[in-house]
Amino acid sequence: EGAVRFEDVRFAYVPERPILKGVSFEVPAGKTVAIVGPSGAGKSTISRLLFRFYEPQSGRILIDGQPIADATQKSLRAAIGMVPQDTVLFNDTIGYNIRYGRWEATEAEVEEAAALAQIDRFIRSLPEGFATSVGERGLKLSGGEKQRVAIARTILKGPPILVLDEATSALDSFTEKDIQDALERISRGRTTLVIAHRLSTVVNADEILVLDKGVVVERGSHPDLLSRG
Ligand code: ADP
Ligand code: ADP
Repeated sequence: EGAVRFEDVRFAYVPERPILKGVSFEVPAGKTVAIVGPSGAGKSTISRLLFRFYEPQSGRILIDGQPIADATQKSLRAAIGMVPQDTVLFNDTIGYNIRYGRWEATEAEVEEAAALAQIDRFIRSLPEGFATSVGERGLKLSGGEKQRVAIARTILKGPPILVLDEATSALDSFTEKDIQDALERISRGRTTLVIAHRLSTVVNADEILVLDKGVVVERGSHPDLLSRG
């Protein structure tokens, strides 16, 4: 469940400047496809179209064979989880941040999601900058720890489709490896679209598309692409 398909999708933010020039690909249900390419290639535009923040000028986007043009943004947001590049925390506990918008989740479910993302030791802490009447100072979370909060939020939501947008770009290489492992755990069994700058971060994708100036210029497995240079 959750197969994603782009059929000859063309898109421009402004008419005289096409951004996607006929992009076609499929993420079979439960598989991981990565889109790599230089900055400005149109990678994030693909995820914005998937959420219907914009509509393609031509071509179709389908989920499980149904054109998303027939779906509401609300239903798409329920079906698609996104781990963004950067996570902004609300001024409340880490546990509240994980739970935000998922009010039906039980305390045990929040704790389980936090444990899977390895952020459970912070669940009752407040992020830095939150002043309380008892004078608590709050906790300064690293980029990696913030990313874990986003990962826990996504685990709690449990969507069939995941979009990971350069989710490890802001991290040092040790943290990156660690987060990569956590992302791989949550993407297992889910349809996953990874958006990345570098081939080295998407070793485990079932298929990799190389996007350049709005065109898919190469596709294949990680070893395929390496052997082609
Ligand atoms: P990538 O994710 O590969 O770096 P993007 O999809 O973010 O690329 O952007 C592709 C191109 O579209 C870039 O040249 C960018 O400047 C342009 N672009 C992005 N958003 C907008 C927008 N809202 N209006 C006009 N141009 C945009
Ligand atoms: P969440 O609590 O996961 O953010 P939402 O219903 O608010 O759930 O959003 C659904 C999905 O859409 C989320 O995974 C979120 O990251 C993504 N999303 C919401 N707004 C934006 C946006 N402006 N740009 C990119 N992704 C967004």
